Amino acid sequence: MNRQQIEALLDGIPDPEIPVVSIRELGMLRDIRVNGDEVEIVITPTYSGCPAMEQIEADIRAALAAHPVRTRITRQLAPAWSTDWIGPEAREKLRRYGIAPPQGAAATEQVIHFALRSAPKKGAARADLTTPEGQNHSVICPHCGSTHTSESSHFGSTACKSLWRCLDCREPFDYFKPY
Ligand SMILES: [Zn+2]
Repeated sequence: MNRQQIEALLDGIPDPEIPVVSIRELGMLRDIRVNGDEVEIVITPTYSGCPAMEQIEADIRAALAAHPVRTRITRQLAPAWSTDWIGPEAREKLRRYGIAPPQGAAATEQVIHFALRSAPKKGAARADLTTPEGQNHSVICPHCGSTHTSESSHFGSTACKSLWRCLDCREPFDYFKPY
């Protein structure tokens, strides 16, 4: 098997949490190294300690199981995955699925997100969210395209998303936080 064939097989593996996008489209599939009958798949987790990684590795092994190759999976942690790696086609799929794709965020926003994850103290989180930086960052509604939106909860259906509501069309939606 060559690299292209393996890439085509792996292209069908969806993200366990957001099945409309593949792990390749999310930028998690970093490299495919073919060395004789051994195939090394290099993946970078979207969030460290993400439980979905076990599922993704099992899916990769299953996709290659019917082929005469030995599969080795390497988790590459550096450089760390960033939402900047999400390709344009995946951003469009997220939008159509009703999830606002990550927008270019100010460094301060990212610092707040890091702080929230590493120190989940409720009081501190609330104080951070009322900072002007948080207020200025308007997320585009995936349903109607309005920027007239507000955050209802900093944690949505998963830790990587926050819950927002559109003030124009009134629809709630998940926002894939920049990381
Ligand atoms: Zn809307």
